[in-house]
Amino acid sequence: FPNLRTLDASVAFHAGRRPDHPAVLCEGRTVTYGELHRRSNRLGHALRAAGASERARVAYLGKESEHYYEVLFACAKTGTILVPINWRLTVGEVDHILRDSRTEVLFVEEEFRALAEKAIAALADRVQVVVVDRDGDAGAGILGWAAGHPDTDLDRTAHEDDPVAQLYTSGTTGLPKGVVLAHRSFFAVRDALASEGLSWIDWREGDVSLIGIPGFHVGGLWWATQGFNAGVTNVALRMFISGEAVRQIRQLGITTACVVPSMLQMVLSEPDAADEDFASLRKVVYGGSPISERLLEQAVERIGCDFAQIYGLTETGNTAVCLPPHEHVVGGPRMQAAGRPYPGFEVKIVDRDGNRLRGRAVGEVCLRTPAHMIEYWGLPEATASTLVDGWIMTGDAGYLDEEGYLFVCDRIKDAIIVAGENVYPAEIENALAKHEAVLESAVIGVPDERWGEAVRAFVVLRPGTTATPRELMMSLKGRIADFKIPTGYEFIDTLPRNPSGKILRRELRDRFWQGQQRKVN
Ligand code: ATP
Repeated sequence: FPNLRTLDASVAFHAGRRPDHPAVLCEGRTVTYGELHRRSNRLGHALRAAGASERARVAYLGKESEHYYEVLFACAKTGTILVPINWRLTVGEVDHILRDSRTEVLFVEEEFRALAEKAIAALADRVQVVVVDRDGDAGAGILGWAAGHPDTDLDRTAHEDDPVAQLYTSGTTGLPKGVVLAHRSFFAVRDALASEGLSWIDWREGDVSLIGIPGFHVGGLWWATQGFNAGVTNVALRMFISGEAVRQIRQLGITTACVVPSMLQMVLSEPDAADEDFASLRKVVYGGSPISERLLEQAVERIGCDFAQIYGLTETGNTAVCLPPHEHVVGGPRMQAAGRPYPGFEVKIVDRDGNRLRGRAVGEVCLRTPAHMIEYWGLPEATASTLVDGWIMTGDAGYLDEEGYLFVCDRIKDAIIVAGENVYPAEIENALAKHEAVLESAVIGVPDERWGEAVRAFVVLRPGTTATPRELMMSLKGRIADFKIPTGYEFIDTLPRNPSGKILRRELRDRFWQGQQRKVN
């Protein structure tokens, strides 16, 4: 549907074309495209009546459900801006987002009402609160709130450059910043591929798409919008529980899914999951954090469908680089690559002074894409230092091979500096994953008087297996350079992760660095 350029146009188009086709499935409930269109119209009128004018911020605090997407489209139709909030945040963090965004209307699920009310205590007069699921769907709640309003189209058409969402970075590297994205961020990849007659997502009319990554994260929101733009059925899991995901894949015949690597790991470790459970899957898109070669190989072998890796940031409107299915060859040379930029998207590697590096030299990855953010909300200086001449400075270290494939080493701030040499945790974690007893691991730098930093590994063992630090060290010998081999090991039950599956290395580092300043590149 090449003419669709805005999210409001997408839902209206598919409501006209296939009104009875399921748009969202959630916990046994079905919302068709016709209903999604009408409900979001109604909500749009209700938002206007509540005084939310164009560019007003409308926050949503809840787990995945059809209501989240109704609010998304209501925002798209009214020119208000959706601020999704991660429901695992603390009162202080929710408070920061509500204040920083100057939210005017907050949709909140009953379960998180207490959290929201503590956060907005000081803002009570400024924020209107709508409880999404009060008394079930038919009663009060979000549908009841909008009930008195018409479901007719709103007299407004969005422009592709209009802002539509403001997503807060998870803050794994600092205070969360509001990344403002326009409609075009959700169409750029499709357009780029179409310009060369390509279509790696390759939607089919009967597709059933699993939104594995939560919708408050750019990965989940982006994936959901790809499904809505294509007019297929989207499955919203309230939250990602691997056993439930496997059950839904089997029962609903899910054909496409977007997940982060830790979700793949969990699904493959499900004791009751048989390889036949994945038979309906045609394509799995994954990304959001580094993936170990072993996990990727297992996934390719066991699930047996097409895989595509995506790499990008909230600031680049999600993916700017993709490793297409044909590069997913077990034992092949590109299994550790993040991929190549889409047509018209660009990648360059620069040194600290901004000079372009070539020939596999490691430096900062910079991305130029038509999908990049408009700005960090209210932070012109941060915007100017991240978005430089149209290039997003990613904060990731990486290199390009001779054919322009990008290899991401890790976040620059996570690099461990051992006697002046950079050690990237993802490389060590990848090497550790080759040991059969290792389920997953996280590697950090700890202070070391002699070398500046020493490499330390936190290891989660597979159930029923054992390994000693010495065995792990021996398994790394010859695989990675000696100075990269961790000198300290701790065995733990689970790794601290954020809800998008990223390892919170900062949490692991904190106890070692108390009172000391860590040097970063
Ligand atoms: P913050 O920027 O505050 O830490 P965040 O981690 O949630 O928040 P995102 O925009 O979600 O920010 O994450 C982008 C980062 O995720 C990238 O910079 C990169 O480090 C990592 N990442 C994303 N995709 C991949 C991938 N395919 N391979 C390796 N790393 C990836």
